[in-house]
Amino acid sequence: MGKVEKVEELLNSVDAIIWEWDVREKRYTFVSQQAERILGYPLSQWQTESEFWLVHLHPEDRERMVAFRERLLREKLEQASVDYRMVAADGRILWLRERVTVVVEDGKVTKLRGVTMDITEAKEAEERFFKAFHSSLTAMAIARQEDRKFVEVNDQFVALTGYSRDELIEQAPEKLQLWLPSPDRAEKEEQLRRQGEIREWEKRLKRKDGSVRDVLTSIVAIEIGGQPCLLFNLLDITERKQAEAILRDARNALEFQVRQRTSDMETFVYAVSHDLRAPLMALEGFAQALLEDYADRLNETGRDYCRRIINAARKMDQLINAVLDYGRLSYMELTVGAVSLERIVDDALQLLEAYLTQKDARVIVTRPLPEVVGHHALLVQIVVNLLTNAVKFTPPDRKPEVKVWAEKREGIVRLWVEDNGIGIPVEHQERIFQPFTRLHPETAYPGVGIGLAIVKRGVERMNGKVGVLSEPSKGSRFWIELPASKNDPLPA
Ligand code: ADP
Repeated sequence: MGKVEKVEELLNSVDAIIWEWDVREKRYTFVSQQAERILGYPLSQWQTESEFWLVHLHPEDRERMVAFRERLLREKLEQASVDYRMVAADGRILWLRERVTVVVEDGKVTKLRGVTMDITEAKEAEERFFKAFHSSLTAMAIARQEDRKFVEVNDQFVALTGYSRDELIEQAPEKLQLWLPSPDRAEKEEQLRRQGEIREWEKRLKRKDGSVRDVLTSIVAIEIGGQPCLLFNLLDITERKQAEAILRDARNALEFQVRQRTSDMETFVYAVSHDLRAPLMALEGFAQALLEDYADRLNETGRDYCRRIINAARKMDQLINAVLDYGRLSYMELTVGAVSLERIVDDALQLLEAYLTQKDARVIVTRPLPEVVGHHALLVQIVVNLLTNAVKFTPPDRKPEVKVWAEKREGIVRLWVEDNGIGIPVEHQERIFQPFTRLHPETAYPGVGIGLAIVKRGVERMNGKVGVLSEPSKGSRFWIELPASKNDPLPA
């Protein structure tokens, strides 16, 4: 193969049309084979048909291209680039990008040489992009990367800024002063340079009329027509920010009120408990004094009355405490967060250690226990109450055995406390959660009847539920349900 053939083969293998056009004869002196593949006309037609190129140009581009060619010849431009359309042999319209070199001999342009590429797909993608751009519900604009001048804006952008299209396109950014200075600008510019995009940057935009809007801005580096550009996508969040501010103010006011009310309640509760306790202590103290100092002047019935007064006063004290505890649960501020049931159960067991030993009770915990969303101290109190009852309500001749385990499904954790105690008849299973509801005399099983009410209200304040399954003499299974913590590692 000769040198010339080799070069030709090379030119033919390039995925573009390589050509040479004779200015005087107005015809192609060389066209590479890709021309036939891309546009469908036989190479012979390119070379023989006079003004082949002009004839097959898209009619709408003809005038512009004639002017382009004339300018090339007149100004003897060394190199120029242009996009235009041609009609292929099968009628399809193709977008071509052409780079032309001018050959000058003896001061005269004798030939044009060029490389023409098929960019139809890229152009179509660009067209689809612009369609989306113009029909977007958010404000969008394209600026050239080098001088930051807008080359395209959509109607939403015009509406958002208050400037007309003409006032925006090709205007120097310093002249428009669209953006108010933002403190994180340098950092964001750096991010844009490094990553080619910025997402959801909160900026403040000054409209033509001087009013200011809060906008969430995304910026992406893109290429349009071979030129590096920046695509701006703006969402006006002024109203949203205003609503958020109002909400925040309202929340603060509410928090203040709650705190105020809580402190009012604390003061009230302290006063009430103090005022109620004073006469109680007097009752107990004087009954005690009677027993000690006047024992010889009282008979057994008299001494029994004194002891009953003392017991009743102590009971009253317990009741006052119970009422206060229960009341506090309703008004106290409660912030919930991720807490570990494992730690809660451990803390409860530690608090009950002496009681469990005294009752010779066995508590079996199935571990690991998951994390829930709740309040640690309140949950410890709840588990203490459930465990205490589980051990307390067991017949005297039976060794208490308590099982604790948890189930997790669909974002909810259910903690079970099961005992082998006396059980609860079905008809009482709901009412035992009411304050001061007891099924047994104080002498059989001591208590004031507030434990389960605290369990119920406490769990409900943590957005949970409580319940019991029980059969008399066979034991009870109490459960509490709470939202699972999102970062809990245990599987659902
Ligand atoms: P207290 O334990 O002070 O009586 P609670 O509110 O904790 O108050 O319980 C209310 C009543 O519910 C108890 O008096 C008892 O009759 C019944 N109860 C609670 N837990 C159990 C249990 N584990 N087994 C049987 N009965 C129970």
